[in-house]
Amino acid sequence: CGMVAIVGRPNVGKSTLLNKLLGQKVSITSKKPQTTRHRIMGIHTDEEKQIIFIDTPGLHIDEKRAINRLMNRAAASSLADVSMVVFVVDGMTWTEDDEMVLNKLQQGSGKRKTVLAINKVDNIKDKEALFPYLAELSEKFTFDEILPISATKGTNVQRILDLAQASLPEGQFYFP
Ligand code: GDP
Repeated sequence: CGMVAIVGRPNVGKSTLLNKLLGQKVSITSKKPQTTRHRIMGIHTDEEKQIIFIDTPGLHIDEKRAINRLMNRAAASSLADVSMVVFVVDGMTWTEDDEMVLNKLQQGSGKRKTVLAINKVDNIKDKEALFPYLAELSEKFTFDEILPISATKGTNVQRILDLAQASLPEGQFYFP
């Protein structure tokens, strides 16, 4: 299947990253195209393959209320058929919400490829300050790749696209 999910709490830079991935400005509004299970952010097409980028609303919601637990379950199940998850965090502000989303994400994630994108590194003067936090993260969670990125500057965005393309099964074409 040709879907890649971009996951992360609000303001970490998911829309900015998507714009860079698509190589053009797309308007992200509340009127995003939706299917019952997936909210489509945008579609990247080249000669070979199409990648449908989806987001997963609801995953960051606090789970004290039953309705939130229900929404989280729906969000998690929308990830069942993606070939890769890009989990975006803000390198400047790591929160417990990030950890909560990661926990959800890695519950039963199986062999789906997961990439941790640490965004806004253009804003981080002392890159080494990230290391202890990275060490802690990689003890708790498993990622196929950990990438420092800058969605605004485009740093490592091509790498995400390459990984996304590599994650797709062969011979999948959508909307020919
Ligand atoms: P979303 O809610 O996860 O979709 O986040 P947005 O894409 O709307 O970005 C939230 C804010 O972070 C905006 O003000 C962006 O300009 C800013 N932002 C996003 N990516 C970067 C980045 O790579 N570097 C810096 N310095 N700011 C960024």
